[in-house]
Amino acid sequence: MKRIYLDYAATTPTHPEVVKAMLPCFTEVFGNPSSIYSCGQEAKGAIEEARVKVADLIGALDEEIVFTSGGTEADNFALKGVAFVNENKGNHIITSTIEHHAVTETCAFLEKRGFCITYLPVDGDGLVDPDDVRRAITVKTILVSIMHANNEIGTIEPIAEICKVAQEAGVYFHTDAVQTVGHIPVEVKELGVDLLSMSAHKVYGPKGVGALYIRKGTKLLPFMHGGGQERNRRASTENVPGIVGFGRAAELAQQEMGEEAERLTYLRDQFTKALLERIDHIRLNGHPVRRLPNNVNISVDFVEGESMCLNLDLEGICASTGSACNSSSLEPSHVLLALELSSEQAHGSLRFTLGKWTNEEEIGRVLEVLPRVVAKLRAMSPLLRSHR
Ligand code: PLP
Repeated sequence: MKRIYLDYAATTPTHPEVVKAMLPCFTEVFGNPSSIYSCGQEAKGAIEEARVKVADLIGALDEEIVFTSGGTEADNFALKGVAFVNENKGNHIITSTIEHHAVTETCAFLEKRGFCITYLPVDGDGLVDPDDVRRAITVKTILVSIMHANNEIGTIEPIAEICKVAQEAGVYFHTDAVQTVGHIPVEVKELGVDLLSMSAHKVYGPKGVGALYIRKGTKLLPFMHGGGQERNRRASTENVPGIVGFGRAAELAQQEMGEEAERLTYLRDQFTKALLERIDHIRLNGHPVRRLPNNVNISVDFVEGESMCLNLDLEGICASTGSACNSSSLEPSHVLLALELSSEQAHGSLRFTLGKWTNEEEIGRVLEVLPRVVAKLRAMSPLLRSHR
């Protein structure tokens, strides 16, 4: 059976060109980038080339990029880094109720250490209101952290507007752009952010590597202590193959993003329209227009997301119920609950995320299988019986 992968927001397959760029780093270019002899300096050069490519993708200076082990580390670095350096200025941080766990769990950690966190609500489409941010800022606020686009529902936040509010109040602004970098245009200067998190494996790069953009002049506590790598900001011998792969992925994304976003938006809209026509009692979650080009998140009444997911898997289709990191939990998604969906609607959610290798044929197959799966599950559903 041919597998149909529709979970590109969880992770992407590594692009063959990226693998090709990484391979020499395991063999010829294996030196320690801190070594002064040529083999080490060659590895150092490869890292610096990758840094320029990642910086170019978001309109940053190469010295503003610090490589990390992924998006989670970049989020931890940004939040803890700002919090601990600015402790004497204030202890208040503003974020939203729909952030990735890499942000919410870091906030929970900081809360236990005396920081005070405001979790702003979102509207029914998942949007944060910049005026809510303005009202929440106090003299003790040191940081606002709002994600660029949500990984579950795909809603794209008005980051430039929110950032302006933070800037006017003299407060640092961080955005988790793990789901947007390489998929839609992200320009740090246009957005005005001080800190921005990225991850390679969401843009056809390898897993275990990411980066934090740190605007020049932003003071941050180093994340790892040890050697002086990454300009004393993140000690540890660099993940040379991973970083080189990230660089190549960034370069490819820059070349292909425009056309690819257009292609995926068209496929996404055709797919959504057909799903709404073919299955009754379903709703699209997230903003209808301000959303990632590849995201289709639906709630199907009277069935459980997990059952749909497993039945689709039996037919060779990979989709998810909320975020991958949540899939081992039976708790309904905090993001869907924040949209004020009922617990049943949140439990009945299914996320399809399209990508580079998704085509009309694959979408057609899902449109044939899913209505059948839903009808089968509804026929057995105690939820439907109690509704009648
Ligand atoms: N932030 C968002 C919005 C994500 O979607 C993810 C991954 O699912 C992360 C952070 C974590 O990134 P990583 O897997 O590179 O640690």
